[in-house]
Amino acid sequence: MVVINRINLNRSSYLAITDQPDDPRLQSILEELKTRKKTFQTLVYSQPTNKVKLKKALLDQTIGCYLLIGATPINVREIVQTALEYHFTHLDMFIFEDEPSVKHVFCGCCHFIHDNVEASRFVCKNCGQLIEVSDHFSHYYHAVLGFPNIQ
Ligand SMILES: [Zn+2]
Repeated sequence: MVVINRINLNRSSYLAITDQPDDPRLQSILEELKTRKKTFQTLVYSQPTNKVKLKKALLDQTIGCYLLIGATPINVREIVQTALEYHFTHLDMFIFEDEPSVKHVFCGCCHFIHDNVEASRFVCKNCGQLIEVSDHFSHYYHAVLGFPNIQ
């Protein structure tokens, strides 16, 4: 667990949004924030019932709050998009990455996001287009971009 040096520790308050109670990914960070006497809140998020709770929690935060987000890719997208609507920016959040072996690919043709892609090219299960997996990771979609292979 070496993510701590990638987290902004200079903010005054923190909100952790995760989809599992007592998320083990947060333990070392929580301890660090406690040592630094930072304000800290956690929200356990499970789609879609907690969307209202999420919006309320985001609204309740003071300016300069930093988000720590750990969830499945679908939930991460939902949480990030909601946070952006509530005037957080990508600099105000840290997203726990999945295992490096788990790759999510965005279909450049129909915008469907495939989970757990292992191949370098595959047929999109949503639009049927043959997709080439690029090396470009989109932080907006939290997925690798895939481009239609047109021949
Ligand atoms: Zn597609």
